[in-house]
Amino acid sequence: MEGIKTIAIDGPSASGKSSVSKGVAAELGFIYSDSGALYRGVTWQAIRKGVDPQDAAAVTECMLSAEWSFFVQDGAAIFSIDGDIPVQELRGKDVRESVAVVAAIPEIRRFVVESLQSLANFGSLVMEGRDIGTVVFPDSPYKFYLDADPEERAMRRYRELVAAGEDEKAHEVLDSLKKRDQIDATRKMDPLVVAPGAQVIDSTAMTLADVIKTVVDAVKKGDTK
Ligand code: C5P
Repeated sequence: MEGIKTIAIDGPSASGKSSVSKGVAAELGFIYSDSGALYRGVTWQAIRKGVDPQDAAAVTECMLSAEWSFFVQDGAAIFSIDGDIPVQELRGKDVRESVAVVAAIPEIRRFVVESLQSLANFGSLVMEGRDIGTVVFPDSPYKFYLDADPEERAMRRYRELVAAGEDEKAHEVLDSLKKRDQIDATRKMDPLVVAPGAQVIDSTAMTLADVIKTVVDAVKKGDTK
């Protein structure tokens, strides 16, 4: 693992983590990893198997009995579950509404954290999530916490969903985002917090290019404080 770098980008829903992380990964030639996709994958697997996402024991059993494979495709770390690669399925309303509950189950978090850590075997990573700088790669010297006003984040997510053809209402997106943030920030295990040593970036009034540049410059300088 000599020479492997891990860049941790954490923050609440729709804070711009995905676009920023993809941009930073492309700029530096690193592998992009979306940790939330794995929590969504566990949730999707439970739902498609008819398991109630509120039933922690059943969701855990369902996750453990599935076959998971991890690989890199087009510069991104992705996974298959029982041979299927879900992508659009992970963005559906059913998954979105249950994922924070599933992600609060300790056994699920243990499995996901170990899987994410093993991705460093593929090479240097830019990983986005909620606990990357605190739990997954706590020793990384490259930690960032992205934030933006809740209304701005809800509008970004709303525009994304409408562009993807979803029939959504802006106030419902804001409510669902606040609910998910609340569960993520108050859960017992690995809540969303600013990692010690992380550089906080408020992107409310920044362009995507500016945020990417801020992160890339800090990594190149080796200084994220
Ligand atoms: O980032 P994304 O919105 O896809 O994450 C979906 C959910 O997965 C979050 O709301 C959170 O509950 C959970 N998650 C987490 N820890 C991470 C990434 C995501 O708990 N590192």
